[in-house]
Amino acid sequence: MTDSHGHGHGHADGPLTPVEEHLAEILATVTPLAPTELSLGEVHGLVLAEDVSTAGQLPSFDNSGMDGYAVRVDDVAAATEDSPVTLPVTGEVAAGDTGAYALQPGTAIKIMTGAMLPHGAEAVVPVEWTDGGSARVTIRASTGYGNAVRLAGEDAKAGEVLVTAGTLLKPMHIAVIAAAGRGSVLVRPRPRVVVLSTGNELAEPGSPVVPGRIWDSNSFMLAAAVREAGCLAYRRVALPDHPDEVLPAIEDQLVRADLMITTGGVSMGGEHDVVKAALQRLGTITFRKVAMQPGMPQGFGTVALPPAKAPEEPQRRRFRRGDGYEEAAAPVPAAGERVPIFTLPGNPVSAYVSFQLFARPALGAMQGYDGLALEKIQAQLTGPLRSPAGRRSFLRGVLDRASGVVEPLTGQGSHQIATLGKANALVVVPEWVVQMAEGDTVEVLVLP
Ligand code: AMP
Ligand code: MG
Repeated sequence: MTDSHGHGHGHADGPLTPVEEHLAEILATVTPLAPTELSLGEVHGLVLAEDVSTAGQLPSFDNSGMDGYAVRVDDVAAATEDSPVTLPVTGEVAAGDTGAYALQPGTAIKIMTGAMLPHGAEAVVPVEWTDGGSARVTIRASTGYGNAVRLAGEDAKAGEVLVTAGTLLKPMHIAVIAAAGRGSVLVRPRPRVVVLSTGNELAEPGSPVVPGRIWDSNSFMLAAAVREAGCLAYRRVALPDHPDEVLPAIEDQLVRADLMITTGGVSMGGEHDVVKAALQRLGTITFRKVAMQPGMPQGFGTVALPPAKAPEEPQRRRFRRGDGYEEAAAPVPAAGERVPIFTLPGNPVSAYVSFQLFARPALGAMQGYDGLALEKIQAQLTGPLRSPAGRRSFLRGVLDRASGVVEPLTGQGSHQIATLGKANALVVVPEWVVQMAEGDTVEVLVLP
């Protein structure tokens, strides 16, 4: 793609890597976490790691679909409103009764919804068509074979796969798994993601304003985005720009991480770029310029705990979420186990866009889930826009799905976070396009 439009390589900013190429390398590196068996009460929102089938057929026995009377069709064939048929009621069977009932010709058995159909019964006459009698019942209408009867196997055949591996478990899936009789299933644990920001200028939100300082928005934003992607987030208070602080902090956090995300400290050539310096000692990371705006400086790779600091065997740990609830998570990485790491640029909009484009699909892949890529739709621009040559722009916009239009917002600088708060979509402007007009059709990524 870069060669075809002539902007990719040899750009004034140096050689640029196409967006797809960067993402492909990321997805080639991350692997799904080992599945774990969890009870049904704990799997909501997790990704199923096995095909779940029903051992037996569903329903497993013929049963009544209504409250009424189990009968033989011939015994009520003559019944009408004007000339009802009266039958003796020989028993009553409720949902959950396990005894075997048999219907004798010329009689009826009172039956409740979900109750096992008596042997010999051919249909259920709803109670509404009768006088509701207990010893005898008067029936005012005839009925056909199988009326109000749920046949064994009409919902699912024995061995039928009901929920497939890779499904993000929602309430309906959990219902189906339970109905198939499974008390626990194999799921992918939520990846534990450590978010760590760097910068001497960063202060905790809530602290007093100090000239020259800004409040750390990235780490809070990324932790939230991580959770939105189905993962557990652990946010580290911002680190100063000093290698002696950054390296030990990364090493420390590695024991709890399936994946790490840093922001700041990776711009091209800055001498305060401590993340880059620290990581050069700890892992294999490619720092590159990606042909996009915002978010050009990207770093991705893997880091490993030095052997002295790693447990010899992988350890299974519980991970405490922000709300105090503990869940099973993947084992702590053992010595030499490599943890994927994203080093995102510091500008908040760059960090945000980079997360959505690169980290979010990677977190999906770790969960064995392919549904995390941003939804892509077409829309008409409500106004003109400009975009640099050779880079794919992701411009903040307001999408109106109902009318199919998208408004590109003003204030598209990578530091202009106010605009981020107004956007619900990213307008994608291809590398070879430098301007677009009102009414043009654009590709839009819907923000989660
Ligand atoms: P850097 O990538 O460290 O060179 O930072 C680029 C820009 O992003 C600078 O203006 C930083 O102040 C800003 N920045 C870096 N980290 C954060 C953060 N965690 N929250 C908000 N802004 C940040
Ligand atoms: Mg910085």
